[in-house]
Amino acid sequence: MARKYGKHGPREDVYDEPDSEEEASPPPDCWLCGRPCGETVVWHHPVPKSRGGRDTVPMHPICQNMVITTFTNSELQRYGLDGGLLRLDPRIEKFVAWVSNKEPDFNAALGKKAKR
Ligand SMILES: [Zn+2]
Repeated sequence: MARKYGKHGPREDVYDEPDSEEEASPPPDCWLCGRPCGETVVWHHPVPKSRGGRDTVPMHPICQNMVITTFTNSELQRYGLDGGLLRLDPRIEKFVAWVSNKEPDFNAALGKKAKR
């Protein structure tokens, strides 16, 4: 009398595959201040669209706000895609130093300038 032990049920070794959740790609770095962007990424035209600019760069909303309230379209066109040139401006330099301690999603009214 041989007893068989063990069950012979169909057995599948199925790997519990971890759902490969696609990690959201890390936020891009802000063109102006160089910090990673927060939840809101603004795609800014360094050269204003009205001046033929096509390229866009990632920015914090507050940084874009700073740029467009600080410079005129003509100036922006002149600076072009080089954010480093903008940071040479003392106003931007000061702003970047100030904003660098803030949360990525920090935003604030910078004070509106009258329309030109
Ligand atoms: Zn920024």
